[in-house]
Amino acid sequence: MNRHDHRQADELRPISFIPHIAPNATASVLASFGNTRVICAVTIEEDVPRWMKVQKVEGGWLSAEYSMLPYSTLDRKRRDITSGKLDGRSSEIQRLIGRSLRAAVDLSKIGQRTVWIDCDVLQADGGTRTASISGASVALAMALNKLVAEGKLAEMPMKQLVAAISVGMLEGTPLLDLCYVEDRDADVDMNVVMTEGGQFVEVQGSGEEAVFTADEMAAMLALAGKGIRELNALQREAIAAADRPAAEDLSALQ
Ligand code: UDP
Repeated sequence: MNRHDHRQADELRPISFIPHIAPNATASVLASFGNTRVICAVTIEEDVPRWMKVQKVEGGWLSAEYSMLPYSTLDRKRRDITSGKLDGRSSEIQRLIGRSLRAAVDLSKIGQRTVWIDCDVLQADGGTRTASISGASVALAMALNKLVAEGKLAEMPMKQLVAAISVGMLEGTPLLDLCYVEDRDADVDMNVVMTEGGQFVEVQGSGEEAVFTADEMAAMLALAGKGIRELNALQREAIAAADRPAAEDLSALQ
């Protein structure tokens, strides 16, 4: 089948993780999956929520927030603060981001700290939750590496990276990494979150207009696995590059 951006059925959109775009956060990246762009910022606070202190819970906490900027969609979306309430979709997505990142890090090893994950969608073209999770995983690794480098943590508490990708069935073909138009037209839409070790963290799948078979589900999961392995390689590259001094710093060292 012909995809309107000429990709193969099993091809990701152009992916990038641009580091350090929000300097006041502990670490940040701009995650781009084609035209979908999400600012993923991680801020680590030297404190834990009050309930943890009251219940004398050891270790730290991780919480995620997700929002779409008003100009991220084709039709302007009102800010959540306008109504004072978070809409159901954003609330579901931020809980998914939190669960996914909690699977990546051993919170008992981060000390009495709170990790805030903020995912703000700059441009939405399908797969904003998967770009958020994949980008937040990169930013979290960068933030925790920074704490280790500063001597605040004895060892890296992140067990492994997580990444997420969307898959779907369109006209009987399993497709990887759906853009908005494909997402809108797809018969089945699935979001898959996996660890670098190939284990599932979460799978969200729904037949929008149609039902789907176990064989179709297996084909979509295999496609997601392929995409996530490719994402993991790009995530690793981005983390390694972010740790290297910038070119101008290198010239100063000579
Ligand atoms: N979308 C939109 N306005 C909204 C919600 C979604 O324009 O209020 C578009 C946007 O491009 C988004 C896509 O619909 O990426 C698919 O939304 P979905 O809820 O499936 O989440 P996503 O695929 O972004 O994780």
